[in-house]
Amino acid sequence: MSEHKPYSFFQSVERSFDKAAKFTNWEKGLLEQIKACNSIYSMRFPVKMDDGRIEVIEAYRVQHSQHKSPCKGGIRFSEEVNQDEVMALASLMTYKCAIVNVPFGGGKGGIKINPRSHSTYELEKITRRYTAELVKKNFIGPGIDVPAPDYGTGEREMAWIVDTYASLKPGEIDAAGCVTGKPVTQGGVRGRKEATGLGVFFGIREVCNMPDVMQKLGLTVGVVGKTVVVQGLGNVGYHSAKFFREAGSKVVAIAEYEGAIFNAAGLNEEEVFQHRKKTGSILNFPGATNLAKSTDALELECDILIPAALENVINGENAPRVKAKIIGEAANGPLTPEADEIFSAKGILVVPDMYLNAGGVTVSYFEWLKNLSHVRYGRMEKRFTENMNNHILGQIEELTGKKVTDSERTFILHGPEEVDLVHSGLEETMITATREIMEIWKNNPDIPDMRTAAYVCAINKVGTSYAELGIFP
Ligand code: NAD
Repeated sequence: MSEHKPYSFFQSVERSFDKAAKFTNWEKGLLEQIKACNSIYSMRFPVKMDDGRIEVIEAYRVQHSQHKSPCKGGIRFSEEVNQDEVMALASLMTYKCAIVNVPFGGGKGGIKINPRSHSTYELEKITRRYTAELVKKNFIGPGIDVPAPDYGTGEREMAWIVDTYASLKPGEIDAAGCVTGKPVTQGGVRGRKEATGLGVFFGIREVCNMPDVMQKLGLTVGVVGKTVVVQGLGNVGYHSAKFFREAGSKVVAIAEYEGAIFNAAGLNEEEVFQHRKKTGSILNFPGATNLAKSTDALELECDILIPAALENVINGENAPRVKAKIIGEAANGPLTPEADEIFSAKGILVVPDMYLNAGGVTVSYFEWLKNLSHVRYGRMEKRFTENMNNHILGQIEELTGKKVTDSERTFILHGPEEVDLVHSGLEETMITATREIMEIWKNNPDIPDMRTAAYVCAINKVGTSYAELGIFP
């Protein structure tokens, strides 16, 4: 569908902000300060390619808000990168961090390249030079600005960044905290891979545990037995489907770009994933029906729809046919503003991307804390907890004369590993954020949707920070 786009990405973020700002009491100047990008670094640097040619690389780092330090946000490698996009993404990071109580300002970086048309060695040279440019201008550091992966970047690039930073800052004891999303062997944290999908699950589960919200939607409380449709079987979609299934929901349909499959009895995402790996497609999965078009999955009768693939997949054209009661925006921007209005009018609950997919940044925060503390989560308390649990259980068994089963024993004795603590911290974060946003919405019935309530939540938190700090001087 071709869509007329009168506003740039950054301008449309500003519009959403303005819409929500009306429901707050901050003075105009303070709101302008919250909206503005504090520092924008636009750079050009030369890199010699494998064939001896010199290419001038266009790249950016934007620090949207320094109301908290450091700034935080991913680095994107894409041919579409431009300053406006990086500014928009950096501002969304400020609001996202504020909502989930991650004490960072928003940042974002971008390098305008197609990573697929460069060799690994060229990508390494580009990434290392970009990091050196950031160091030169004091735009990176554990207390200044901490990048992370985004489109086109991953653990490998983060390892190059930390290595470059550490070489240029010899003796800086906290150097590992200059970037997150690192391999575990380079100071990364366990539990990051599934973090976004797990966060999506925790957020939606909390909404489903709210009796008044469920009553309005005509649904029962809890996720057990709820039907779920997932679009995109990538990192976020796969893990969202996994955690819903494990909690007792039925994932009745999964859509990928080549098509979609349906089974009213529920699908197992791992089996579908393996089938796709073997045959090259999710279609013709044993026991499931193929849908005529991939997008048909979005219009199926279901309780929860999870778009976890791309932006703008639900728009003014197909939104009127969507039958889900709850839409969980796992992807970034899967709904157009037209779709938003249609769902708001129909009473369909849209749980907004800005906080629902914040699992990644939340776990990045845990990684940064781990780097600053120089100790793996669980190392100090795991054995102590296990010994203590063993002792308590032994006493109970002795006093009652009864024994628990072997599987119960394993469960009760288990002391926390790093991954347990990371999951638990994420669960706490998503539950708290969901409750805070819902509380704001309930207290102001004029707020049209949960997205606006999320923005109000963010504006109030950043506003409070500025107000308490005062403006210098
Ligand atoms: P991914 O590349 O692992 O997965 C995306 C999947 O969607 C792929 O399997 C792809 O084949 C599929 N897909 C592409 N086009 C499709 C279509 N038209 N119909 C159905 N499926 C289609 O990416 P991801 O990391 O899972 O990210 C998905 C979305 O979540 C993106 O919008 C991303 O910005 C957002 N997100 C990701 C994270 C994270 O931690 N990975 C964090 C926040 C937000």
